[in-house]
Amino acid sequence: MSYEIIDGKKISLQMQEEIAAEVKAFTAKGGKIPHLAAVLVGEDPASQAYVGSKVKTCEKVGFKSTLVKFPSTISEQELLNKLDELNNDKDIDGYIVQLPLPKHISEHKIIEAVKPSKDVDGFHPINVGRLVLDLPTYISATPYGITQLLERYNIETSGKNCVVIGRSHIVGSPMSILMAKNNKFANCTVTLCHSRTKDLKAHCLNADIIIAAIGKPNFVTADMVKQGCVIIDVGINRVDDASLPKGYKLVGDVDFDNCAPKCSFITPVPGGVGPMTIASLLKNTLLAAKREIYK
Ligand code: NAD
Repeated sequence: MSYEIIDGKKISLQMQEEIAAEVKAFTAKGGKIPHLAAVLVGEDPASQAYVGSKVKTCEKVGFKSTLVKFPSTISEQELLNKLDELNNDKDIDGYIVQLPLPKHISEHKIIEAVKPSKDVDGFHPINVGRLVLDLPTYISATPYGITQLLERYNIETSGKNCVVIGRSHIVGSPMSILMAKNNKFANCTVTLCHSRTKDLKAHCLNADIIIAAIGKPNFVTADMVKQGCVIIDVGINRVDDASLPKGYKLVGDVDFDNCAPKCSFITPVPGGVGPMTIASLLKNTLLAAKREIYK
């Protein structure tokens, strides 16, 4: 079967151009320049890379950005004090706290300390609740990016069986909620699978759409995929590869080479879901600057 590769890089750039145009129009009418802040705790190289590219992309679309860095030894209280400052800083429209945090800091406490109107990651319980209740909200970036891919590739979802693998708070769970919603690019019958699911293969073989967010390289194999399936691979996994200068390569949760020939559409890793996450975060920040969710 011939399959189409869903080009997340292309769609992300398209979204960034749209956002840049909106920023121009908004500021031309006297609106303020959107301002995103990112809080980074510690020296984790992956977190540094993610935050770095978020800040760089902000500049590309005409946003202001502020990077707030702390050593991993910062106490929970000191970090909470900083969030309080960001919550009260009128120039900052939205901010994110890059996860994971050091073990001595409670992620829940930190997430709940972010003012919901500035929570452009969409992790605060109020924003998650609003998502469930179909109220305007910041949809967390990776799930929102996936809905954009489906929509912009005009992929039929209504009435389809969608299997989401993984139930994390940032990807799998919100994704399952979004795919079941009563709107044009959702309306799926959703099955949310996880580490305790029995006979995952049988669920997958019944799926028209598989969204894999597990964190295990090449976990979804061709024998789990029915002909014509749409596969969205969220996984980003490092696997050793001595032939490369870095000594590793990035692969998804899906065995791309063997699954792709059975698919109608499939996202690659890298270049699929990954680039969409940043574009979606910028979209949320624009909504924050325009006070479109919280007036
Ligand atoms: P997580 O570790 O929080 O959750 C993994 C989920 O997989 C769990 O809910 C678990 O129940 C499920 N799981 C584990 N083993 C399983 C099994 N054998 N069968 C079925 N389910 C199983 O991970 P996460 O934060 O949701 O991230 C998942 C992957 O997505 C990671 O590779 C991560 O790096 C990647 N990710 C990518 C982006 C992006 O922008 N593309 C964003 C976030 C996460």
